[in-house]
Amino acid sequence: MTAQSFHPPERTLMGPGPSDVHPRILEALSRPTIGHLDPVFVDMMEEVKGLLQYAFQTENKLTFPVSAPGSAGMEMCFVNLVEPGDKVIVCQNGVFGGRMQENVERCGGTAVMVQDEWGDPVDPAKVEEALKANPDAKALAFVHAETSTGAQSDAAGLCRLARDHGCLSIVDSVTSLGGTPVKIDEWGADAVYSGTQKCLSCIPGISPVTFSERATKAIEARETRVQSWFLDLNLVMGYWGGDGGKKRAYHHTAPINPLYALHEALVILQEEGLEAAWKRHEHMHGALKAGIEAMGLSFFVDEVYRLPQLNSVTIPAGVDEAAVRARLLEQYNLEIGAGLGPMAGKIWRIGLMGHSASATNVLNCLGALDAVLTDMGADIHSGKAVPAAMAELG
Ligand code: PLP
Repeated sequence: MTAQSFHPPERTLMGPGPSDVHPRILEALSRPTIGHLDPVFVDMMEEVKGLLQYAFQTENKLTFPVSAPGSAGMEMCFVNLVEPGDKVIVCQNGVFGGRMQENVERCGGTAVMVQDEWGDPVDPAKVEEALKANPDAKALAFVHAETSTGAQSDAAGLCRLARDHGCLSIVDSVTSLGGTPVKIDEWGADAVYSGTQKCLSCIPGISPVTFSERATKAIEARETRVQSWFLDLNLVMGYWGGDGGKKRAYHHTAPINPLYALHEALVILQEEGLEAAWKRHEHMHGALKAGIEAMGLSFFVDEVYRLPQLNSVTIPAGVDEAAVRARLLEQYNLEIGAGLGPMAGKIWRIGLMGHSASATNVLNCLGALDAVLTDMGADIHSGKAVPAAMAELG
């Protein structure tokens, strides 16, 4: 077989991630590759660290991007903080809390699960009960923005509870960073990981992380060696430079061009400003909501806990949801997401993340969904969605 160059179609990405990558970021990716210890590259790495501190709203020195996707950032937090025999309280209200449990157990720890209904936020009262019942717990782990449902939990309150009970907090901010307020220092969060492919609108495959001084001390006080060589913070920092970046040694070959892309994504975020970015996500969510409701469809998550960047929409009765997604992709080059796990067949997940959170995307998505559902004979109010969203956009 003779393979040809691969040219993907131009899609509009409005699923749970990846989101549309800004053209400036794609251009940055194509700049010349230089050495990963080149002084010019090292200077850029320092800027990336500073820009991530801004995105995370933290002064934490130990803030940098892991050279692997969000799941690796998750593992970095767990493998460095959890030793065999440690107890961790893990909150689950969707898919990703379940992965945290796996991580704790694979580190030889015990996960004490606090379960909430999918679509609900983590219940702080249940967490407090678990903390009281387990005074020997080392950490509390939770997902700030549950991508499988679109529910947001009270990260500030949960981190406070962890501190009040002498626990470290491990926070998943993969879907929240850049889309909804993430304030690491104000929350007093200890180990936090994120992803680049959601509200930062960068390419997938990098995971920003940040560790507080409390977390760093806990890692230094470990009795056992971190079981993952690649994710051992002590070794990784030899390359990323915890001391202002002066001394650097080879650990792994950094993804040079993807880091140019991350740098550009963070420059774009800084130019827009975090608060403006959060407001834009809210505004676009408001327009999408007006259109979805005018069409006669409803949201799965209660309005109070709803994430603007991840909209779970209930599928109308009798509709073949996979066929709708397939037609959106084929006819409109538009990707929306299916439900995950128990939510499969019950919801669509419409992402408004980063560069994808635009008026053009909202109107295109509503127009295309209306056209496909109307053509399939679904029981919706045809023709109402786009005008309702336009009225909201002003
Ligand atoms: N945590 C959450 C909340 C996510 O949404 C995702 C990915 O969608 C991950 C972790 C894992 O990130 P990745 O797919 O980049 O490994």
